[in-house]
Amino acid sequence: MVTSSPVDLVSAPPPQWSDLSATGRRVLLDLLVHGPRSRIRIAERLGLSRASLTRVARELVDSGVVLQGDTLPSATRGRPAEELQLRPQAAHFIGVKITAERIYVVATDLAAEVVDEISAPLISPDVETVVDEISAAAASLIRRFGNVSAVGVGLAADVLRRDGEAVVKASPLLGWSEPIPLPRLLEERIGLPITVTNDVHALTAAHHWFGSGVNHRSLVVYGVGAGIGSGAVIDDELVEGANGRSGRVGHTRVGGTGRVCANGHTDCVHSFVSMPAIELNAGVAPGEYPLAVARARAGGVREAEAFSSAAYALGAVVAESVNLFDPELVSLMGEGLDMLDLAPGAYRDGLVAHLEQVPIESVRTERPPFTFGLYARGASATAIRDLLSE
Ligand SMILES: [Zn+2]
Repeated sequence: MVTSSPVDLVSAPPPQWSDLSATGRRVLLDLLVHGPRSRIRIAERLGLSRASLTRVARELVDSGVVLQGDTLPSATRGRPAEELQLRPQAAHFIGVKITAERIYVVATDLAAEVVDEISAPLISPDVETVVDEISAAAASLIRRFGNVSAVGVGLAADVLRRDGEAVVKASPLLGWSEPIPLPRLLEERIGLPITVTNDVHALTAAHHWFGSGVNHRSLVVYGVGAGIGSGAVIDDELVEGANGRSGRVGHTRVGGTGRVCANGHTDCVHSFVSMPAIELNAGVAPGEYPLAVARARAGGVREAEAFSSAAYALGAVVAESVNLFDPELVSLMGEGLDMLDLAPGAYRDGLVAHLEQVPIESVRTERPPFTFGLYARGASATAIRDLLSE
């Protein structure tokens, strides 16, 4: 395992989250997402009386999670006395992304900024090993930061919430076919609250709070890599679905070349868009995705066609999301988006062919800077969110 820095940094214990009032949590969440602001503006935004905001501000300052203008250290003096701002180092969180090959673990502060990261090969995808590896990585970050409050885990799977317990229904990527009570297994080992979420839902929630999705009340995020998933935010709320499985777009049929996916569908998105599908269609060995990219760039016909089909299918499925949700913004994220550079025309064709009486100019699409660590950061953000929304 590799940590970014050997320095040990044990700080004060985390705040007692369970003691925070519901209003205190709302104010903290507002500061988290929208940054420092005056007490008057927070009171207006959240519909609170000035008296109750004064009370809540004192509660948040006393618990160490918020600083008030007149209590700031001298270096930052000059802020208005009435301004509240988050104290990011008041608590830390751990975010984990599990893939079939590796685990990525980050520590973030309360503002969801990554302060340390660990990445290690997944020795085996069996449940016990995954729990062992996550627990070991979490333990080393907890030793380092001391005030870790909760752990979020994201993976490519349906996470069902039933009777207050979250269960990973199945993860074909990890070969898990039985429902796994992953949060409980991890909580028993780590001793902290655990949030387990579909990885693209976590990415979506974090992008809505901390990425360019801020200030958009509706948003669709695509995660494209080993697979394809999507997440939606409607009216400022992440849509997880009644069973935690919203956003499954990978097997939408888009037409094309008559290819059959592992589920027996002809010409579904999965047959074209994911990195394994591109490898197969480009005729390179599994894991040789970069070679397919290089050959397509160099003019390889078969490789170029693989990316062109991928771009068309992605355009088609993005169009379906726009038809369904009419979002303010569509964010395309993930490590497998080279089709957008290699075949932008095919992407546009897929969009145009599938949009229902929506002019393509009105579809706002962005491709924000992406690193794989954003998945783990997203998982951490969902842990923060769970703590503040309880
Ligand atoms: Zn399919």
